[in-house]
Amino acid sequence: AQPLLIVRNLQKYFPVRGGILGGKKALVQAVDGVSFEVKKGETLGIVGESGCGKSTTARLLIGLIDKDKGEIIYDGQDLGGTLSLRDLRRGVQMVFQDSYASLNPRLTIEESIAFGARIQGLSDPVGRARRLMERVGLAPDRFAQRYPHEVSGGQRQRINIARALAMSPRLVVLDEAVSALDKSVEAQVLNLLADLRAEFGLTYIFISHDLNVVRYISDRILVMYLGEVVEIAPVDQIWSSQAHPYTRSLFSAMPSMDPDNRTMEPPLAGDPPNPINPPSGCRFHTRCRFAETVCKAKVPTLRPLSVGSEHLAACHLHDLGSGHSKAGKDVLA
Ligand code: SF4
Ligand code: MG
Repeated sequence: AQPLLIVRNLQKYFPVRGGILGGKKALVQAVDGVSFEVKKGETLGIVGESGCGKSTTARLLIGLIDKDKGEIIYDGQDLGGTLSLRDLRRGVQMVFQDSYASLNPRLTIEESIAFGARIQGLSDPVGRARRLMERVGLAPDRFAQRYPHEVSGGQRQRINIARALAMSPRLVVLDEAVSALDKSVEAQVLNLLADLRAEFGLTYIFISHDLNVVRYISDRILVMYLGEVVEIAPVDQIWSSQAHPYTRSLFSAMPSMDPDNRTMEPPLAGDPPNPINPPSGCRFHTRCRFAETVCKAKVPTLRPLSVGSEHLAACHLHDLGSGHSKAGKDVLA
């Protein structure tokens, strides 16, 4: 089947205020050549350190910011870089981390949820809002006429989820959507999201710094480093064997990692390099303990570990062997 979303060579550089580098205007290479696909009905988790480009990717997908280059193909149609494709855009909704900032404090909860649907001319926005309130666990009789500041953070996030669903989207981008919640509330909202996905046939892109949360909800995981994709794989595969040295470090830093799957990587040295002037070749080479001469000189391509594999990584270690990945446990152990 055709993927619901195809992203090809997506690029976004941001100017730095007053920034000059080597006589040229300095640009942060926030997203640089990102490509991936999202299948209908799956959840793709996106992980990486803060500043790796996860949120910028999300904002590009929903058209909050315009891309410099690349393609975003949603349901077979090119979303271009403009907000003119409003009907198409409606099919892609987003839920942010800050449950309060995305709500208008002067609108009641019912009106907050109905608002977008009303603007879009969808039928019966209030009825739609009340049905969704019920569905996300906010009894309309109790909550409809209250204001966002009168409810808890978890309830506000339920409002934001209902608000996104009121637009009848097919793809929902969740950017750290449960990260600000207490652990018990987080689990409830995650379960709700999983149920809604099945019930409405939704597709999710789930961005989080929390690997356990991403594991719970995702079918596949995409790992970003300094604006690039370094690895993509089905969740079970990446959980049992991380192919990219950066992914290994990221996973081994998790306190709750199952000891059988824990690779004894030393913690990552230092901070990520400056995204205005990223390292040449493989951007991870300044922190990678397997780096070789080729790593500084040549950008590794994201490619399957073996023919037809769904497990992709961008690392020269995988190009050195003949057919098989040499970056298995034997090389990296
Ligand atoms: Fe490390 Fe080289 Fe692989 Fe980059 S390409 S992750 S530097 S081994
Ligand atoms: Mg972020």
